Amino acid sequence: MTDPFYHPAENRYQQGMKYRRAGRSGIFLPEISLGLWHNFGDVDTLAGSKQKLHHAFDCGITHFDLANNYGPSNGSAEETFGQIMKSSFAPYRDELFISTKAGHDMWPGPYGTWGSRKSLMASIDQSLRRMNLEYVDIFYSHRYDPETPLEETMQALVDIVRQGKALYVGLSKYPYEAACRAYQYLREHDVPCLAYQGRYNLFNIEPEREHILELAHENGAGFIAFSPLAQGLLTNRYLNGIPEDSRIARGGFLKASALTPEVLARIQALNNIALRRGQTLAEMSLAWLLKDKLVTSVIVGASSVEQLDDNLKALQNTSFSEAELKEINEVLSK
Ligand code: NDP
Repeated sequence: MTDPFYHPAENRYQQGMKYRRAGRSGIFLPEISLGLWHNFGDVDTLAGSKQKLHHAFDCGITHFDLANNYGPSNGSAEETFGQIMKSSFAPYRDELFISTKAGHDMWPGPYGTWGSRKSLMASIDQSLRRMNLEYVDIFYSHRYDPETPLEETMQALVDIVRQGKALYVGLSKYPYEAACRAYQYLREHDVPCLAYQGRYNLFNIEPEREHILELAHENGAGFIAFSPLAQGLLTNRYLNGIPEDSRIARGGFLKASALTPEVLARIQALNNIALRRGQTLAEMSLAWLLKDKLVTSVIVGASSVEQLDDNLKALQNTSFSEAELKEINEVLSK
């Protein structure tokens, strides 16, 4: 039931959030979006998840990014979101842009993973049920499936839109050649790709180096950067060791082995540059991505409202002097 006491901030669109057009579409996305990969599963408290989501919306974040397998456990981030959708956000559905994805391991057996029509069709139905939604705004193929014909995956995306279960579609982590073919297929079937999601941050400039950013632009798709803080490495989180409540300590994809002496030295050097700019390292790392107009939005993760607030401050200064950029490049090339 909708909570009669939930009222989002009336000035939510006057809090400094800016919106950028996704490629050549009609859609504007907030420069900072919130992702639910971590921190919203059934291992986290519902109250904490609610607090972060409410706060995000209060600050003008209209785009929430999910996937079938986000949690842990698989599906539980969508369930959390579904509960909050029902209790808080239902009256505001038309102000929200909600994404989900399928393609990584989700349920056991041969149909719960990769990019078959069977898998995508079943997954979108499950996601809609878990999230208490009639449709998602964008449905992504979560990863390129080299074994399934690309046409099968793309046609499933097209049909999901035709069935009214998603308004737009997107690609995530597709290599260059596969992305070229996918953009073309979707365009030719009148469901142009809205957005490409790729890992992009100061420690990983692959989308730049592999021309994925340009390719999205040429194909009229927006580019959305995920893990913009390198899962927390590009923040002050690990400057003085590994905090007990951190992503590394909680176990998962980010391992303590990522924190080599060389990486730590880079984090410290970048932190010094950020402090001179009057920013935290997290703020500077996000600003560095947003200086590029080809980036439509950065999807941050946050384990607290304080982190979210810090990240939002990045929007206050996204320009860099030549000297600052040179210094950052020097740190990264060491
Ligand atoms: P980030 O790189 O933003 O890392 C988030 C983590 O960084 C937080 O959990 C927190 O770590 C730490 N952090 C965030 N802000 C601050 C701050 N201001 N100060 C200190 N520490 C901070 O993003 P994620 O890796 O979480 O990815 C973001 C989203 O991108 C995902 O939720 C998902 O929606 C999407 N994504 C998409 C993928 C795809 O395949 N398409 C793959 C991966 C992500 P701690 O928990 O230690 O506090």
